[in-house]
Amino acid sequence: MQVTIEPERCVGSGQCVMLAPSVFDQDDDGIVVLLDDKPTTALEGVRESIRVCPARAIFSADEA
Ligand code: SF4
Repeated sequence: MQVTIEPERCVGSGQCVMLAPSVFDQDDDGIVVLLDDKPTTALEGVRESIRVCPARAIFSADEA
């Protein structure tokens, strides 16, 4: 899975960090940081993050 984020859209809600902590982190302002843009684990957490992100700031290039 290829993951991309648009941090400028992020509202710092933190769901993605709770759902896939190996893929997402938050900076000191609470804005999302992408730790792994090609995760091979925690894929369901990434998919759920895409679904629940209130800012729609997370994208995947494929659903593999
Ligand atoms: S779920 Fe969306 S809005 Fe919340 S921290 Fe992650 S990217 Fe930002």
